[in-house]
Amino acid sequence: MSIVPMKPILEAALKNGYAQGAFNVNTVAQAEAVIEVHKMFRSAAIIQGADLANAFMGGRSDFMNGTVEDKKLGAKRIADAVYKYAEHADIPVVLHLDHGKDIDSVKAAIDGGYTSVMIDGSSLPYSDNVELTREVVKYAHPLGVTVEGELGVLTGIEDHVFSDKSTYTDPMLACDFFKKTGVDCLAISYGTQHGAVKGNNIKLRREIAIAASENLRHSGINPLLVSHGSSTVPAYIVERINQLGGDLKNTNGIPINELKSVIPYGICKINVDTDIRLSITRNFREFFTNHPDKKKSTTIGRVWDLMEQNPDKFDPRIYLPPVMDKLIIETNITDSDLLSLVSLIKAGVHEVVGTLIVQFGSFGRIDRINTRSLSEMIDIYNEEMRIS
Ligand SMILES: [Zn+2]
Repeated sequence: MSIVPMKPILEAALKNGYAQGAFNVNTVAQAEAVIEVHKMFRSAAIIQGADLANAFMGGRSDFMNGTVEDKKLGAKRIADAVYKYAEHADIPVVLHLDHGKDIDSVKAAIDGGYTSVMIDGSSLPYSDNVELTREVVKYAHPLGVTVEGELGVLTGIEDHVFSDKSTYTDPMLACDFFKKTGVDCLAISYGTQHGAVKGNNIKLRREIAIAASENLRHSGINPLLVSHGSSTVPAYIVERINQLGGDLKNTNGIPINELKSVIPYGICKINVDTDIRLSITRNFREFFTNHPDKKKSTTIGRVWDLMEQNPDKFDPRIYLPPVMDKLIIETNITDSDLLSLVSLIKAGVHEVVGTLIVQFGSFGRIDRINTRSLSEMIDIYNEEMRIS
């Protein structure tokens, strides 16, 4: 199956009372692993590349300074890999841009082959957010591409997305936002946070999701709501990282039962990034601890040096740059040390993504999805325009 737009996949989740996890990737090995594990569980897969991940994949280890050209190259690299893996997978696969910050980021992603994009205007004044989101919808829908917007501001750090104060989504505004922008789905702020330090015993403000989805339903709009900042930060993984020389402090995720409790109220996509970074970090630390000779490897030894210098970090992009070119560009890796890293990356993805497919209930659901191609979605959007 080729890669497909996201909207029909979220509609099936909403209708059948489950959620799709959406998983961020920074290397092609991660994308391959995300598809493998979803295939194993007969679930649709949503692979996310963040705007800055596209810059990283475009060859910028200083990805914060990535240009539009870097992003275009990165978007195309990840999209080419995802197309190749998806072709043989027999499950619907979506490639979604996470936190697109302007129309250029969105265009870079769509030109590269993304089938779904988020435009994050949440830090702008409401009317500017509406304006920006509408502009993206105007570009994306004629191409059949799904659009996600965001209303309300989350706290925490995630790539360029940083905010120290949270503003919960006003559920009354959600309807207005959908109507004025024509957006397909909406990320809301209701107590989740980006990053690995989310505070103890987080309680989600599920009444915000309830109020927003009720308002939307009464207006005849399908309440496709999205939960960002929803990593669970598994304690067993953090503990193991710290046993192996890591120094992660005050890490907390969103309790899995809190996340499951909002699924009946319209949350049909749950974004997870941190959990994957943590499991890969643990796998790498375990590997170098069990094979101390590999710390001197000519190909991967420098990865260990960077891990050792950064015990309080768990973002693989901090220690992958020495091998990044090979991981991203080379399709036939033959170096056995490098192959070990690839299999550790994939194992990390399989573990946390597999767990969440089961927890969020998307396993075994591919037959419930009315999968649409990009060109079928173009017809559907045209028809909607004609009626309205
Ligand atoms: Zn986010």
